[in-house]
Amino acid sequence: MNAGLNLEPYWMPFTGNRYFKAHPLLMQSAEGMYFTTTDGRKILDGIAGLWCCNAGHCHPRIVAAIQQQVATLDYATAFQLGHPGVFELADRLTAMAPGGLDHAFFVNSGSEAVDTALKIAIAYHRMRGEGQRIRLIGRERGYHGVGFGGISVGGMSPNRKMFGAMLPGVDHLPSTHNLEHNAFSRGMPEWGAHLADELENIVALHDASTIAAVIVEPVAGSAGVLIPPPGYLQRLRDICDRHGILLIFDEVITAFGRTGSAFGAETFGVQPDLMSVAKGLTNGAVPMGAVLVDGDIYSAFMTGPEQAVEFFHGYTYSAGHPAAAAAGLAALAVYEEEDLFERAARMAPVLEDAVHSLRGTKHVIDIRNLGMMAAIELEPRAGEPTLRALEAFRLCFDAGLLVRTTGDTLALTPSLIINEPQIAQIVDTIGDALRSID
Ligand code: PLP
Repeated sequence: MNAGLNLEPYWMPFTGNRYFKAHPLLMQSAEGMYFTTTDGRKILDGIAGLWCCNAGHCHPRIVAAIQQQVATLDYATAFQLGHPGVFELADRLTAMAPGGLDHAFFVNSGSEAVDTALKIAIAYHRMRGEGQRIRLIGRERGYHGVGFGGISVGGMSPNRKMFGAMLPGVDHLPSTHNLEHNAFSRGMPEWGAHLADELENIVALHDASTIAAVIVEPVAGSAGVLIPPPGYLQRLRDICDRHGILLIFDEVITAFGRTGSAFGAETFGVQPDLMSVAKGLTNGAVPMGAVLVDGDIYSAFMTGPEQAVEFFHGYTYSAGHPAAAAAGLAALAVYEEEDLFERAARMAPVLEDAVHSLRGTKHVIDIRNLGMMAAIELEPRAGEPTLRALEAFRLCFDAGLLVRTTGDTLALTPSLIINEPQIAQIVDTIGDALRSID
């Protein structure tokens, strides 16, 4: 089926292009928990596409909503115009959101959501006469997409080192990931809440009056499912409050049920001032992201003449592209009607027990989990970091399972509709793969 397909012109993202093009893996279709490849193999999707298809692939209600929307209104500009769908989606989304996050700014991706949130934070302080607050604090091992803002506050060195100067005035908190203290934790690891206090040292170094915002993922996903210790996020919140610093939660992967409730903020009981979301917002069916904004921040911008632009920022599709808005409305309705967040919470212990049964399997040096996310960290092969995990990935795929690798970690983030036999299949397949590689 791939015969005649020219693979060369497409420069693939975050991919070893030459290896892939010599050993292509192409998907033809998807439904529920499964992909079908172009050569007819059925693949269990262990990562919900890429942490996004929380209700499973090609959900009929979401598909129908998109089809109907593109046939009715394909596009309307976001600038000085709108369409009902995006207002309805903002209303629905902010009604779900925790605390005072009562406004939504739409974008097309997680990266854009992050860069938009950083800009809102800096501009907010300026609107209040504190224009010297321009510093941004991220975290080591953080992933916040690939815009210059996101890679600057992010802490994954391969994503940064090719690209020269980052944003000025950025500093980083330490990561809480530590195998010496936390290996094989179930749920939140015991050790590490004190690392939040490093923020006080950063504040002392730069002076609070220069710092606009702290941004963290409640659970760091792309670095390999790094779960916060109890109390850690609350300590960040308290320190931010003490110093007038905004707290941004990047919930691009943790929102929409992944942690067992609608948002990580809810699961961990900590309220951010701004939240970036994407992925599950439309169940991955149409690209879309959003920044959820606290009402006080929004209000700070609503000054000056009524007809004047308040925030000089936006994308051609910031209207919430009509197809994306339709997908978002349908996805949120499906999550609610099918009780998927509650289902995720119910299935989380099943996933936990299943993944931890791999403890003691060849190469495994850590297993961690929370909600419907889990990671299995492998001992890196001497002199060949990441290769062992890549081999495991390929073997799993050949055995009918899609997992994700990040460094030497295998990540699992299945759709929230996954059932017990499918969880068992994931763990059996990974176990077999690990036992058969060096
Ligand atoms: N922020 C977080 C926490 C993410 O996990 C991701 C993507 O995985 C992003 C931002 C970037 O999202 P996108 O790839 O849609 O730009």
